[in-house]
Amino acid sequence: MTDLTPLQDSFGRRISYLRLSVTDRCDLRCQYCMSEKMQFLPKSEVLSYEEMLFLCEAFIRRGVSKIRISGGEPLVRKDIMKLMQGLGRHIGAGGFEELALTSNATQMPTHAAALADCGVKRVNISLDTLNRDTFLRLTRRDALHQTLAGIEAAQAAGLQVKINTVALKNYNEAEIPALIDWAHGRGMDISIIETMPMGFIDEDRFDQYVPLLPLQERLIEQLSLTASSHKTAGPATYFDRAATGRRVGFIAPLTHNFCANCNRVRVTCTGEIYTCLGQDGKMDLRPAIKSFDETQLQQQLDAALLAKPKGHDFDISEGQETPATARHMSVTGG
Ligand code: SAM
Ligand code: SF4
Repeated sequence: MTDLTPLQDSFGRRISYLRLSVTDRCDLRCQYCMSEKMQFLPKSEVLSYEEMLFLCEAFIRRGVSKIRISGGEPLVRKDIMKLMQGLGRHIGAGGFEELALTSNATQMPTHAAALADCGVKRVNISLDTLNRDTFLRLTRRDALHQTLAGIEAAQAAGLQVKINTVALKNYNEAEIPALIDWAHGRGMDISIIETMPMGFIDEDRFDQYVPLLPLQERLIEQLSLTASSHKTAGPATYFDRAATGRRVGFIAPLTHNFCANCNRVRVTCTGEIYTCLGQDGKMDLRPAIKSFDETQLQQQLDAALLAKPKGHDFDISEGQETPATARHMSVTGG
């Protein structure tokens, strides 16, 4: 195809970052992410790796420089390295710079070396607690040791690991300083994330919700954090910690709107594009993907971006029963 222009939305935001969910399934059931009895998609509805590769190549041709593979848990999908290898071959060509992954790390011991071989340099690993009982209560699985082994394996394979921690009342709020110490002590940056009201879960989100700004203020004081010059187009605000030489990020969509610089879109494992994490607006790319029709696909990408909203409408209030989005975070991968 010729004359493909870089992807841009109607507010002039350049789209350079694709987040692709490769499965909605997971081996954990984090309380804030999923209900215990999740209804997963029939596998027949999930795009094949060949189709996902076709989709990603179309994005790369439109100037996407970073692709993050997520889920559900991406490493539970069978033969995931086939996709990673296929994508890895594009790194360094046509402006495609980075292939990244978000994972709960339980399967990382099996895959870390292969990921590094595919050209992955950085992985985000979700870890909300270092306490085995809290991990079991929070993820409904007794798998803390697996996640910790996965983090070690990733580091041993040379992958740069960033820890993502969702701050949760009644689970890990008091443990956050210890988690920061733990991550920094092992050479990892860490981002603290505010819960977002996405999808129906078994608990009341208000009971889990920790407003991030007051927590951020306390941690700035307690850990002598200073504003960092490190900036990304992403939603995090970063702070440096001189004592460890590492960073703490805060991702607070509810208390701090990060939409003005948004450079990303998300595609589900069935080929639906969501141009805003906090809205339900989507477009079905599947027919174009399934027929490998790049002309139609590129037209749809332009149309989807024309409709990209200015921002999200997240809000968590007492007694509020309806989430901001009907879908769970695991549909679009964070
Ligand atoms: N399974 C992988 C993992 O946990 O890293 C990748 C998918 S998970 C949906 C991606 C990220 O979204 C994780 O860091 C997780 O903690 C976060 N997440 C899931 N549901 C969330 C919610 N309702 N609010 C805020 N973060 C959420
Ligand atoms: Fe699975 Fe990640 Fe959701 Fe936890 S946050 S249930 S690990 S997809």
